[in-house]
This record gives sequence, C-alpha cells and structure tokens, in this order.
Amino acid sequence: MKFTPILVLPFLIAFAACAQPKTAFQVVPLGVKGGSDESNLSAYAIALKGTNEYVCLDAGTLHAGIEKAVLNKTWQGTADEILKNNIKGYLISHPHLDHVAGLIINAPDDSAKPIYGLPGCIDVLKTNYFTWKSWANFTNEGDKPTLNKYTYTILIPGTSVPLSNTTMRVTAFPLSHVNPYESTAFLLQHNEDYLLYLGDTGSDEIEKSDKLLALWRTVSPLIKEKKLKAIFIEVSFPNSQADNLLFGHLTPRLLLKEMNVLSQQAGNSGLANVPIVITHRKPVGNNEEIIKKELTQVNNLNLNFIYPEQGKSLEF
Ligand SMILES: [Zn+2]
Ligand SMILES: [Zn+2]
Repeated sequence: MKFTPILVLPFLIAFAACAQPKTAFQVVPLGVKGGSDESNLSAYAIALKGTNEYVCLDAGTLHAGIEKAVLNKTWQGTADEILKNNIKGYLISHPHLDHVAGLIINAPDDSAKPIYGLPGCIDVLKTNYFTWKSWANFTNEGDKPTLNKYTYTILIPGTSVPLSNTTMRVTAFPLSHVNPYESTAFLLQHNEDYLLYLGDTGSDEIEKSDKLLALWRTVSPLIKEKKLKAIFIEVSFPNSQADNLLFGHLTPRLLLKEMNVLSQQAGNSGLANVPIVITHRKPVGNNEEIIKKELTQVNNLNLNFIYPEQGKSLEF
C-alpha cells in the first residue's frame, strides 16, 4: 500500500492530542494567604472545566477574590451575580475565621445553597457564627428563626456524596489541627479524575496523630493510577518556626516529611507528576518568599510546587 501523508496526518494529530493529559478541573483561587490580609484569605472555587458550576473550598475571602477574577477576565459579570449564580456550595474544612469570614460577611447577598462539613465544623457554625447574637441565622438549623438560605450538609468521613448542582462528588477525611481540634481534607471527584484539598493541618509527628498517614494510604492508589490531578496543601511557616509555636500548621521541612511518606506509598515518580499547590502561607515579614526558597531547598522528591495567586485561574 502506498504511504499517503495527507490521510495519516489527522490520525497523528489526534494521537498527539490524546497523549497530552487532559485537564479536568478549573480552580479559581479567591484567597490564598494564611492570615492578616482579610481581602485574601483561603478560598478556592473549583469546577469541572468548561462549566460554571463551582463549589468553594473554604470561604475566607469571597467578594474581593471574585472581583480580582473579574478584573483578570477569568470570569465575566458582576461579583454579585457570580457569587449568586456560579458558586453552588461551600466546603468548609474547619471553622477558623480565616476560612469562613467571607461566607459570613457575604451571606446577606448570597443565594440559597448548601454548606458541607464534618459534624464538628458544622456545629461551630451553628452555635457560634450563624446565630442572632453574633450575626443572623442564614441557615436551616439552630437559632430561631432560621432564614433557610444555607442548608447544612453533614459529611461522614470516607463516604462520597454528590455536590448539589454540579457533576462532582466529594469525600471528606479528618485532619489534626492542634490535636484534638479537627480540620478536613476534601477529595473531589468527577468520573476518573480526582483533586485533593487539605484544610489547615499539622504533621503527624508534631500532632501525635495518624490522620495524614491514613489519608496518604487512601489516595496513593489514585496517584499510581494517574487519577489524582493535584494536591492543595498548606505551608504556613518557614522552617525557623519552633515546634511548640506551629499551632497545627506545616513548614517546608514538615511538608516534605509528609510527602516522603506519601511517596513511599505511591511511588516517587508518580508523586512527581502531581502538582502540589502550596496554600496558607502566613504573610509575616518576608516569610512567603522564605517558604518558597526553603521548599526548593528541601525538595528531595523533585515535586512540582505551584503558588496560587488570587483571581488567577489554574487548570489540572
Ligand atoms: Zn486553622
Ligand atoms: Zn487557617
């Protein structure tokens, strides 16, 4: 048979396109810092790529982040419309104010949607924040009268549930954040694609916990099968922070210690292919830059660190 390049070319192009890993998730960071700057605190809007069906992973900052995303042409419309229409729910890792302030402040202007969380987290929202003494009860439970805008949705650790008005699912796993206080890791899923977001967490070593080990055991098969698209994890302090002043957070050294445990489970080459998005750097002095530099120095696993910026879309 005669070789006809004209006929073969489309197949080669199609093959090359298939060889590229396809992106599944779009993440719009609405806030990335671990404190101080109330206009830029932990909140990550995530949707299946090509849709406007976002859920917010934590909600420290909403309005200022949406405005930034509009300015960057990541989203079109007014901040008010986007908050109401594009954000379909909130996944709250733990009830510290730097993770919920945006949700509470924007509640009067928001539309009806669920708030997902582990029982302990929902309980704090119910008894401390969405009460008539501290604000107004925009939710469907607790202090009477209830305004029924937000619906509490309790997550059971390790049990996958659908996220309303999206095609994604979530599974929650407890984390230790100043033992015995808990935070949460959320494993987002759409078909064969997964993304892991960890709220604030200390290392197992310092927290005297095995919560991260349990999480690494759960997600390592997904890394081996190339289904995990990204890991969002905090590094709050530089290495110089004393162990007794970590307050349930990670340093570059402690992150790498945990990543080495994960890599033992998942295989190093597997983990090197998973982008590691560094969240929650506390903007004290020059610490954000120091953390970045120290992560490069301790990176014995050749990990691909990503530093999110407010309003700048990421794809995984
Ligand atoms: Zn916290
Ligand atoms: Zn925090």
